[in-house]
Order: sequence, then C-alpha cells, then structure tokens
Amino acid sequence: MKNALISIIGIFIFSFLLGFSPQKVTKKAILIIHGGAGVITRDRLNPELEKEYRSELAKTLQIGHRILKTRGSAEQAVIEAIENMENSPLFNAGRGSVLNEDGEVEMDASIMNGKDQSCGSVTGVRKIKNPIRAAQLVMNKTKHVFLAGEGADEFGEENGLPLESPEYFQTERRLKQLEERKKAGDRRGELIFKDSKYGTVGAVALDQNGNICAGTSTGGTSNKLKGRIGDSPIIGSGTYASNSTCGVSATGDGEYFIRVQATHSVSAIMEYQKKGLNEALIEVIEKKIAPMGGDGGLIGLDKDGNYAWHFNTEGMYRGVLFEDGTMLVEIFGSN
Ligand code: ASP
Repeated sequence: MKNALISIIGIFIFSFLLGFSPQKVTKKAILIIHGGAGVITRDRLNPELEKEYRSELAKTLQIGHRILKTRGSAEQAVIEAIENMENSPLFNAGRGSVLNEDGEVEMDASIMNGKDQSCGSVTGVRKIKNPIRAAQLVMNKTKHVFLAGEGADEFGEENGLPLESPEYFQTERRLKQLEERKKAGDRRGELIFKDSKYGTVGAVALDQNGNICAGTSTGGTSNKLKGRIGDSPIIGSGTYASNSTCGVSATGDGEYFIRVQATHSVSAIMEYQKKGLNEALIEVIEKKIAPMGGDGGLIGLDKDGNYAWHFNTEGMYRGVLFEDGTMLVEIFGSN
C-alpha cells in the first residue's frame, strides 16, 4: 500500500517535471490546437510576445467555435483554424515559415478525416498562401493523397487558391534566425533541433456528427536541406484521424516522428491495446520519441471528446475549446 502510494506520488511529480498536467475531462472538448513545441520558457518569451501568442491561439479557437456550434464540420473547423495560424507571422506555417538553407520557404501540410480516412497532403510548396487548403483540395478533388513541389503549387493555382510572393512568406524574424544558425556553424540544418522554437501548427476537431478531423501545417525546420520533407505532411506521422479512436497532430523533430509513425501509433495503441488517448500520447513521446533523442509534442481528441496533449520540450503553444464555448490556452510546461 505504502509502495503504491509512493509510486503514484512519483508519477505525478515526474509528469509535472515533464511539463505535463494530467487532464481531468469534465466537459466535452471539440477543438484542440497547437502552434509548435520547443524551448519556450518564460525567460525567453517577453510578456508582449506571450500576449500575442495567447491572443492568436484564442482567436483561432473562437474561429473554430463559430463553425462547430453552428453544426459546421470538423473538416471546416480544422481548415479555418489552421488557415488563421498560417496567416499569422507568429507561427512557422504559411506566412512566417522558417527558411531552408537557401533562404527560401518550402511548406508542408496535411489533413485527414476520421470518418472515411480520406486524406490529402502537399509538400515543398512555395507559392500557395494557405498550404492546408491545398492539402484539402488534394483530398477532395483528386484520387491521390500526396502532391509535391511545383506540381502541388500548380494544382493549387489551377483550383483558384490565392498565391503569394516569396517576400510575403519570408519574415524578418526568420531571416535573422537563419543567419544566426549559419553563424553558429549550423551546416545545412544539422544543429536545428536543440534550441528551436518550432512553431508548426495543428488542429483536431470533433463535430456534432461525431466526425473527427486532424490537420497540420509547417514551414519545416530552419536551415533544412532544400527538398527536405518532415513529418507534418506524412499521414500517420504528423497527422492522423479515425472516428473509432482519435485525431492527432504532431510537432517537433520530424525525422523522429516519421520513424515511429507517431500519430498513427497513438491510434493503434488505443485500438489494439485498449488504452486511453492520454496514455497513448505519453507512450509515443516518452517510450518512442524521447529514447531516440527526439523532442516534440502531440495533441489529440478522442471520439468521446476527451482531449490530451503531451510534450517533452519546455513548452508548446496550445489550446483547447470545449462544447460550452469555454477554452484553455497554455504555453509553458505548467500552464
Ligand atoms: N515537425 C516539423 C518538421 O519536422 C517541425 C515542427 O514541428 O516544428 O518539419
């Protein structure tokens, strides 16, 4: 008995140190979002910037709320939530994407519907203002699931998606970040992982018909090799959804998330091992990603509206919206 008590206390302390707070679900969650995980600590984020992040995350959840409360679909909520974050230069997606070794943007995005597991992805797009919209078009308007580079940009253009110039995507902040990395001796993205604020965006929604949709959008990693593809556009690694289990979106060192098929693994753990969402997220981060040396986070919603997030970085921009319109926005390990 005494030993059991000690282990329970131990687990709580361990979880707290990892920046994870066990989620008590009292209300149904209908939308969960992230804006990237990384070295996000109070001393690194000045109060004004923290306020900007919090308000952009809250605005994103409000957009989702307007859609979901009027019986809009989970797909529409995910698209519009991600589009809002792509349009904000704060995040590493759309405008404000990080730059590759040549100082150019190459953006990736993916989306998946849990109802029929239809999905769509784009990688290496340079012109489409909102890559998540291109991923949605691939899903809904083609028989394919994945388009790359020029072909993806052209496909978006042909289907009427707004395009932007390289200057629109490249912000001062990202140019400075690239310069600093090169100065620090980071040759072609090798040092990227340990001191990054990642900034990828993701969303998972559950609509009134019980459909789950998940999506992720990113500029990838700063100073990456030209042509590099991360986990975000890869179904099962960066994004996954199934109405019988959950929807999940990932952020972090993409190379590790690809190796363990992170987001599909969460669903598989729930389906085959009959574990809950929270436990499944922890298992993937702590038992799969972390032991290999990878950092990052996962967010998810299960079919009953339970939500969970877990990360092994100092922070993750994140928020959740409940059925009654209330929301929670957090950044650091403890809140
Ligand atoms: N996972 C993304 C990638 O590797 C980066 C991130 O989440 O910040 O492209």
